[in-house]
Amino acid sequence: MQFENTKQFAQDLDEQDVLRKYRDQFHFPKVNGKQVIYFTGNSLGLQPKNTKRFVDEVMQDWSELAVEGHFYAKKPWWDYHERLAEPLSRIVGAKPEEITVMNTLTVNLHLLMVSFYRPTDKRYKIICEEKAFPSDQYMLKSQVKFHGYDPKDAIVEIKKRDGEHNFRKEDIIKTIQEVGEECALILIGGVNYYTGQVFDMKTITKAGHDIGAFVGWDLAHAAGNIKLELHDWDVDFAAWCSYKYMNSGPGNTSGCFVHERFHNRQDIPRFEGWWGTNKETRFLMKPEFEPMPNADAWQLSNAPVLALAPYLASLELFDEVGMDALIQKRNLIVSYLEFVLKEIDKQVDSTFEVITPSDPSERGTQLSVFLHGEGRKLFDYLMKNGVITDWREPNVIRLAPAPFYCSFEDMYNFGQILKQGILQKTSELSN
Ligand SMILES: *Cc1c(COP(=O)(O)O)cnc(C)c1O
Repeated sequence: MQFENTKQFAQDLDEQDVLRKYRDQFHFPKVNGKQVIYFTGNSLGLQPKNTKRFVDEVMQDWSELAVEGHFYAKKPWWDYHERLAEPLSRIVGAKPEEITVMNTLTVNLHLLMVSFYRPTDKRYKIICEEKAFPSDQYMLKSQVKFHGYDPKDAIVEIKKRDGEHNFRKEDIIKTIQEVGEECALILIGGVNYYTGQVFDMKTITKAGHDIGAFVGWDLAHAAGNIKLELHDWDVDFAAWCSYKYMNSGPGNTSGCFVHERFHNRQDIPRFEGWWGTNKETRFLMKPEFEPMPNADAWQLSNAPVLALAPYLASLELFDEVGMDALIQKRNLIVSYLEFVLKEIDKQVDSTFEVITPSDPSERGTQLSVFLHGEGRKLFDYLMKNGVITDWREPNVIRLAPAPFYCSFEDMYNFGQILKQGILQKTSELSN
């Protein structure tokens, strides 16, 4: 499609957008009384308007039924979490039995490493990407130390080449082959939080299995963003948070995937709790742990229903729309944003560098833009003028036009505000 950087063209794209009615189903913050242009759905998704209904239902059942709500609430609480497995399985490409929702992301990755990182003196290394999300770095280091190894030796980081912003697949595979039999686990962020690069999870998972390692994925920036086929890719385990592209609210619960070949396996250890026991006999309070025959065996505590309610609300919207439609709009709106950036770059004397891969198969919703010569001031200008982006040191803004609620006109308007911001700054300098 031949894009144009005009309001009319953007409005025409909105007119043809089959998802346009969903914009109205989210709450937008306002700046100076005007709805913001929201680019941080990769950090905290907007609140869907149906969330309140789901939360209110729990509040009402609690007030009217108290403890009886466990079994007699409109959506009984004792197995509330099971309602999320089916819709989530469609989003991440899994069987419903392979999905469970519990705790938060870093907690779940630790719990999954109890099962899938069991180092021996011969096989103890973990491969991850360099500059992984900080929580993942802390987690991996603490796990390695917990088992008595030295992170400097046991953690192998895949490197980018000098002067390049993204990882090359051949370098990843080479590292995996080099570490070989010493590798116990490969654990990478499926979509890089900084650059938005999407990894070839299928190929990397296979390469990991070929050297006899387990392969897990942190899907914080992938769930609800890109097409996933966790079951068919033969991924061992994965976890994601629900408050980024999945719009379930700040700090909310995490989804987990455990491939079905690990269900009912005596040789896979796990930290256990009562919500992981067979639901039929759970309340007999038996001393023996009899695991659920699925990923729910990894559950520990009774379900945080007030947290799960917004997640279930959000999944209702995802189910209505489907990942395919979201991805189709995502590809178009991201390309349009990239085009607008390039147009503005030509009009002002500035150089933006999009460090996200330009190949659509290697990116999702996020474009990370290196603002050469532009500083924090420009970012502050954008925020003051109703464009919510985020800033990453040294000089990067991340722009994620979530297809659920961002419009093409937003992209055009953003370009105009960006241009004003740069021109204003330049004129300040010359005064
Ligand atoms: C957002 C994010 C997290 C956050 O983890 P929490 O435990 O939910 O705070 C972890 N890892 C990655 C890669 C992330 O992008």
